Amino acid sequence: MLPNMSKTLQIEVDPKLCAGQERVILGELPYAELKQIQQDIDPSSSPIKVDLMFSRVGKFVVLTGRISSNLVLQCAACLELTDFAVDIDVNLAVINNEELVSLLPDGYEPYLFEGDRLIMSELVESEVVLVLPSIARHDVCPTQLPKSSTSKDFMLEPEVKKNPFEALESLKLK
Ligand SMILES: [Zn+2]
Repeated sequence: MLPNMSKTLQIEVDPKLCAGQERVILGELPYAELKQIQQDIDPSSSPIKVDLMFSRVGKFVVLTGRISSNLVLQCAACLELTDFAVDIDVNLAVINNEELVSLLPDGYEPYLFEGDRLIMSELVESEVVLVLPSIARHDVCPTQLPKSSTSKDFMLEPEVKKNPFEALESLKLK
């Protein structure tokens, strides 16, 4: 018998069937297989670890468990890398009909998919997208940023005055 385990998460599953079997999805999504967030994270990021289980709550197929990783992002302030821990408590009601959103059982967020099959890697990445910061920053950057004295020196350089209307025109062209 095949264990209820899949190494790769690039799999399509039938949520109803999985719920009936209480199928467990264990696996990892490595950087190379990422599609939605690959550009936002550094290749040195750990794979995204997934430990999820399908089951039923009333008429709904639900997916519960954990998605975790240690991603590496680039700090927007100092451009050095910064660790970003991901630890998501997953409580999803998996639906393929938007009208069901208002009927969801308490405590479950909707995950809407199309058709009858659910692509696990897409679901996992979508959940990680929700927790990624739009701009990554260190709490305290390890590298000192330029101090105000530097910007003062900068101010002493000859200032090129621009016609404000010219600036406006160039904005309009964008
Ligand atoms: Zn920084």
